[in-house]
Amino acid sequence: MYPTAKRVTRSCAGGFVNPIVVEVAPRDGVQNEPRLVPTAAKVELIRRCVAAGARRVEAVSFVSAKAVPQLADAEAVLAEVPRGPGIAYAGLVLNERGLDRAVAAGVDEINVVVVSTDTFSRRNQNCSTAEGIDRWTALARRAGEAGLWRTVTIAAAFGCPFEGEVPEDRVLELVRRVAAAGPEEIALADTIGVGTPDRVRRLVAGVAAIAPNALVRCHFHNTRNTGYANALAAVEAGAHVLDAGVGGTGGCPFAPAATGNIATEDLVYALDRMGLDTGLDLDRLIETGRWLGEVLGTPVPALLGRAGKFPA
Ligand code: ZN
Repeated sequence: MYPTAKRVTRSCAGGFVNPIVVEVAPRDGVQNEPRLVPTAAKVELIRRCVAAGARRVEAVSFVSAKAVPQLADAEAVLAEVPRGPGIAYAGLVLNERGLDRAVAAGVDEINVVVVSTDTFSRRNQNCSTAEGIDRWTALARRAGEAGLWRTVTIAAAFGCPFEGEVPEDRVLELVRRVAAAGPEEIALADTIGVGTPDRVRRLVAGVAAIAPNALVRCHFHNTRNTGYANALAAVEAGAHVLDAGVGGTGGCPFAPAATGNIATEDLVYALDRMGLDTGLDLDRLIETGRWLGEVLGTPVPALLGRAGKFPA
């Protein structure tokens, strides 16, 4: 149902590939919110994102309700979202039970996380990195049989909150191992927002060389204000897919005061000005970011809602 790596190599005047933007606010953007976001508000957020042109939405997570109470309503959310041809919903899956729930709830895509360091992996999903690779490999087989689009995300690909610097060689070796399961897409996640554009370029090129048949996806947090520079570097390096969350909410459990995902409206503003086509409606994104701020009770970090677009 998605373009393969070969088919998305349409390019704009500047020579870059038009990136696909995956909307992650309904999952990553609300995950760390201290107060519970009602199911109806999550559904409305997704409805607004789809109305703004989003065609891939990371909507839910199938982790245990005990671990992440904010995302305990995955089935209820997916039962209400607007469905239609060309609109795909993804769920985060960490284990077999999560995959069972994802299939039963009718997701189109799964996103499985493998963490680059053992310490973070144990804290995040209670297994070593090597065990994480095994889990992913088993999940990829079953999800493939179920006809789902399979994304594997390398978390902490740019640095670890516990172990510090993560050597690029280690990340690329991990990519080699997860690529063996034949994912449709491999994502590099800057989970704690410590990446820089030079490393982004090297790792994106590295993934593309290791897995030429998979799309390369990047997930950036703007924790230290490098998120947008990293996203644009990724596009210039040939990444096919970028994650972004409308409003730029989300935070980071390891930097409580920090902002979250790069904001969809701020990213799309820059891509639009560069002549790249995302199919997203900037006005509607801005409006949705402002609306999300009202729902969460605090203005969102995104700047487009304050500055307005240019030309107006
Ligand atoms: Zn994230």
